[in-house]
Amino acid sequence: MADKLTIYVKNTSNSEGMPLQSFERLSPEWTGDSVVLPFGPDGEALEMAGWTDLFGGRPCAVHVVKARWLPHERPDISGGPTSPTTGYLVYGGNSGVRILSDDVEPTPGVDDHLPRGYGRPIVWVDLDNVADLPANVRQVVETPICEGCGAILDKSANPYFVDVGQSVYLCERCAGGEAGPDPEPGPVDYLARAKADLAALERGEPVDLSGWGVRDLRAGGGR
Ligand SMILES: [Zn+2]
Repeated sequence: MADKLTIYVKNTSNSEGMPLQSFERLSPEWTGDSVVLPFGPDGEALEMAGWTDLFGGRPCAVHVVKARWLPHERPDISGGPTSPTTGYLVYGGNSGVRILSDDVEPTPGVDDHLPRGYGRPIVWVDLDNVADLPANVRQVVETPICEGCGAILDKSANPYFVDVGQSVYLCERCAGGEAGPDPEPGPVDYLARAKADLAALERGEPVDLSGWGVRDLRAGGGR
């Protein structure tokens, strides 16, 4: 199972917030103080930081991860997708993210105490728009990981189930490929160690008996 990520964003002076949303992590995560992305019709490059309500609102780390956004039971209420959607999730703190722009006039009494710009609960970058992400971020989030065990996969790895509309990356072991799946664990032989120790004792070999609560009298240490 892919690693789950749930995000809830409060309604604050930064943004209206967002009901709890669930995502599955599909790549390693990039984290930084801010990230520059193109915004608006002109694709203006703007700096974006994470935002927290701590101390009345302040910047915090921003994270980028390739993710599968899972639909809510009531997408009409939650605003999430109606079917699982894969893209790049950009998220910040409990107040979302803040896109910094000197061109934005603050709203008096709402965000005139914050740096000029506008807030969003999260930013979602479609797969087609991956080129919007800076190269150092792409380096991290375009690395596929196995959805079964989280192992980092080669960038040339091919996903499974593409023909049925899913793109699922799995390592060979989790996919049950050439190496085959892990064998089912057999019944545990609790006496295996006892039998082995007894056989060694019979051969006169040294045996560590400390775990058995007995003393080896042969060494002459006993009374
Ligand atoms: Zn795996």
